[in-house]
Amino acid sequence: MIEIRQLSKSFGSLQVLKNIDLTIKQQEVVVLIGSSGSGKSTLLRCLNFLETANGGEIIIDSELINSDKTNLNKVREKVGMVFQHFNLFPHKTVLENIIEAPIYVKREKKEHAILKAQKLLQKVGLRDKANFYPEQLSGGQKQRVAIARALAMEPQVMLFDEPTSALDPELVGEVLQVMKELAREGMTMVIVTHEMGFAKEVADRVIMLADGYIIEENHPNELFSNPQHERTQRFLNQVL
Ligand code: ADP
Ligand code: MG
Repeated sequence: MIEIRQLSKSFGSLQVLKNIDLTIKQQEVVVLIGSSGSGKSTLLRCLNFLETANGGEIIIDSELINSDKTNLNKVREKVGMVFQHFNLFPHKTVLENIIEAPIYVKREKKEHAILKAQKLLQKVGLRDKANFYPEQLSGGQKQRVAIARALAMEPQVMLFDEPTSALDPELVGEVLQVMKELAREGMTMVIVTHEMGFAKEVADRVIMLADGYIIEENHPNELFSNPQHERTQRFLNQVL
């Protein structure tokens, strides 16, 4: 579904990603871990072309994406993204947030977009919140709206960048629950999270980033119980 070859990304003289090779299969759930500043967000943002890589190739759904030539809106239809801070439009209702991109980017008919949005709200447990504004919702509810909004574009891959890090502890579970359900339905997902219990339960593979490299990857049971790299051991000691 996603093939990354020799991806590199620098900010000025700081090289954040160094020749990353990574293949993600259809329906695979990959959790990305690593210390703050290790480049996890940058990697996700390169996958969604919010950042332009300095080198390497990204192939999504058999299409080589070159930010000069390919229509980035088309790519972003394939790749949904959920951010730590929700990024909902504050002046739009929940329903309006969800139908915006399907109508204006995908040119869907409004009635169709609304029907789909209502189904998605049902799916994330917020059917009764369609006409609320983001500020009237809890963080967990906002994040579930953000997930519904990303799903409304019918993406083939979902990227999550610390989706529960900004939430009060008691609201984390409801968001992880929605993500678990998505994984169960076979959505291909790349998730940056420090929720190791979730990773253990849901991930097919955990990838540890450090110093711009993938230093270790493995099935979560193996990686958590028997980390090979000293950096991974230290990181896990801090978060587990
Ligand atoms: P992580 O998500 O793992 O915490 P990031 O991908 O956000 O790490 O950042 C990796 C490194 O790149 C950090 O040193 C960060 O300061 C730097 N960085 C990220 N975005 C930018 C940017 N837009 N301009 C300059 N430096 C950046
Ligand atoms: Mg980050």
